[in-house]
Amino acid sequence: MDFGLNDILGPMPASSIFIGVDLGGTNIRAARFSGDNHNPESKSKRPTQAHQGYTAVMQHIEQTIRDIGPPNLKEVAGVGIAGPGPLDPYLGLVLRAPNLPGWENLPLKKIMEERLGCPVFIGNDANLAALGEWKFGAGRGHNDVLYLTISTGIGGGVITGGRLLLGARGLGAEVGHMLAVPDGPVCSCGQRGHLEAIASGTAIGRTAQVKLKAGADSKIRDLVKGDLNQVTGAIVGQAAQAGDAFAQKLIAEVGTIIGRTVASLLHAYNPSVVIFGGGVSMLGDILLEPVRAAVREYSMSAVYWRDCPIVTAALGDDAGLVGAGALAMEETKNGRMPKDEG
Ligand SMILES: [Zn+2]
Repeated sequence: MDFGLNDILGPMPASSIFIGVDLGGTNIRAARFSGDNHNPESKSKRPTQAHQGYTAVMQHIEQTIRDIGPPNLKEVAGVGIAGPGPLDPYLGLVLRAPNLPGWENLPLKKIMEERLGCPVFIGNDANLAALGEWKFGAGRGHNDVLYLTISTGIGGGVITGGRLLLGARGLGAEVGHMLAVPDGPVCSCGQRGHLEAIASGTAIGRTAQVKLKAGADSKIRDLVKGDLNQVTGAIVGQAAQAGDAFAQKLIAEVGTIIGRTVASLLHAYNPSVVIFGGGVSMLGDILLEPVRAAVREYSMSAVYWRDCPIVTAALGDDAGLVGAGALAMEETKNGRMPKDEG
């Protein structure tokens, strides 16, 4: 009997081209990957132009993919799209997207599969950033990872036992919407006192404005030429890095609150590494030292944190994009995303 190579290895995959897409409120970015390599072969970017409505945005997504894809997109093994939450990755639905007006229960997966002619998978952008950092960034080699992204909002993702935690409807790991301060400031979601309402870049800028308007002394006044309405989280971060005591104290207070929440998350998930991504995390130890101190203070036992480093992300702005590519690779290979039976 004569065996061909395919009889030994199984059928060869038709293609090893994967495309990751990061769908943001301002820009759509896409990257082309080959095989298991997480370094993009090429990248493209186009404005989202959300005000034009979702049909136009779908057109822009398709065009951003065509900019780097093969002439016939049927040759692509899989496209992963990192979208704003909340979304249902099982059904491929964007449930609601605050930055994309009119996007309610939108069947993004189905529409894009019809347009492109290849398999499409979608995921929450923070969850996919967690997937990217786990597979190719600061979480490499770990099986249990806690990822938080601190930027204009706060998102996160949990890898547990070597797989991305999604939850029953795929809505899991919204760590920014954990209660941090009862009856605290109103959150972007409408509830009060969530971590995002206190510790996001937006919240840091808002708190600084209130304190400065009440007379606090800080170099920030010079940085905004006296116009305190111009104070943002980024400016507070800039002042903290320049040694401004007011800004450093504010960032430390925020770090303490984040650290308390992280201690709770260590109790829940027992990760072996905690990774901080997003613009605010780029402050490094100015933010992370207070986080680490609070984790030590509020953990029920040192076994939770002693062998669990708290580090900054390795992939920067590309985490979501690389994670979207990783989603396409994982789903195409393993098909591990549970199918909806209802
Ligand atoms: Zn919230």
